[in-house]
Amino acid sequence: MFSRRILLTSVSALAALALTLPTTTWAKEPIPVVATFSILGDMVERIGGEHIAVTTLVGPDGDAHVYQPTPQAARAVAEADLMFVNGLDFEGWLERLAEAAAFDGALVVATDGIEALAFDEHGDEPSDHNEHKDEHDDHEGDHGDEDHKDEHAEDGDHKDHADEGHDDHKDEHDKHEGGHDDHDAHAGHDHGAFDPHAWQSLTHAVTYVDNITVGLAKADPENATDYYANRATYVTEIEALNVDVSAMMAAVPEDKRTVVTSHDAFGYFADAYGLTFEAPQGLSTESEVAAADVAELIEQIRAVGISAVFVEAIADNRLLQQIASETGATIGGTLYSDALSDSNGPASTYLDMMRHNAETLSKALSN
Ligand SMILES: [Zn+2]
Repeated sequence: MFSRRILLTSVSALAALALTLPTTTWAKEPIPVVATFSILGDMVERIGGEHIAVTTLVGPDGDAHVYQPTPQAARAVAEADLMFVNGLDFEGWLERLAEAAAFDGALVVATDGIEALAFDEHGDEPSDHNEHKDEHDDHEGDHGDEDHKDEHAEDGDHKDHADEGHDDHKDEHDKHEGGHDDHDAHAGHDHGAFDPHAWQSLTHAVTYVDNITVGLAKADPENATDYYANRATYVTEIEALNVDVSAMMAAVPEDKRTVVTSHDAFGYFADAYGLTFEAPQGLSTESEVAAADVAELIEQIRAVGISAVFVEAIADNRLLQQIASETGATIGGTLYSDALSDSNGPASTYLDMMRHNAETLSKALSN
């Protein structure tokens, strides 16, 4: 009886060994990884190839700015060994999702090491400052004590209000405390924000690819050689495309280098190729459009003589169509800003997307 039990134990141990051996050493399962949006997912697939199984959270034509994670997304994140994210606050929903899914894998931030463009750098904050100004005008005459003076003095834009000294409005002042808290929160949110759309520069794309490669090689050293080989091939293609895009954009006439899109997604493209992009909507498709900004943009289009506006695959383009019809500008085509097209579309890979955008701009602006 005793010896038989030992025999049974060793047999089942052997059986277990036989079952685990093939999967761990010979036929390795692809590593489950998550990429937050389609452009990044394509890059990750190019580097990881057969060694990984990619789940992309925000798919083709999806808008990552306003994405709401699904239960399936949470499951994919929970099971992933690696998660690839853009960073620079592009995925505002990420932290909560990772927490909810108890993600315990490695996080790879694709924009690490990229010198990000600040929100102000391509100047689309005027509405924000105007709002603040109105807010302050409403409060005129209500500021009663030193605390308020200090608060205003700190804020360079609103220094003029520090001169108001009314000592006999204590009650009213208390009422306005809340308003100023809002103001501070607003200011804290907007200042120091960076443009997250760094993939719109092919030069920065190489940094994305490097971060992806290092992340995969670290998680799966056995296949590191493959990852670096895939990287080399891909970077060669990216650099070749950059030469083509540079040539196309350099050929755009001087007086046609200002274009209009729906939201401010092309700051890095503009920076790389010497174009100017204007947009009624800010860095996120979530930003509210101020009527004053639209009026200003329409005036600018008329004054500068902008000949074409471009709709975006992910955005609500009704406003842009209205701007076009009011100014007589033509719709130059569709640009892909934050997501790839589906596999039948003209931008089903990152490289196709960049080429499509450059060709669309080039065609519309060379006429
Ligand atoms: Zn965007």
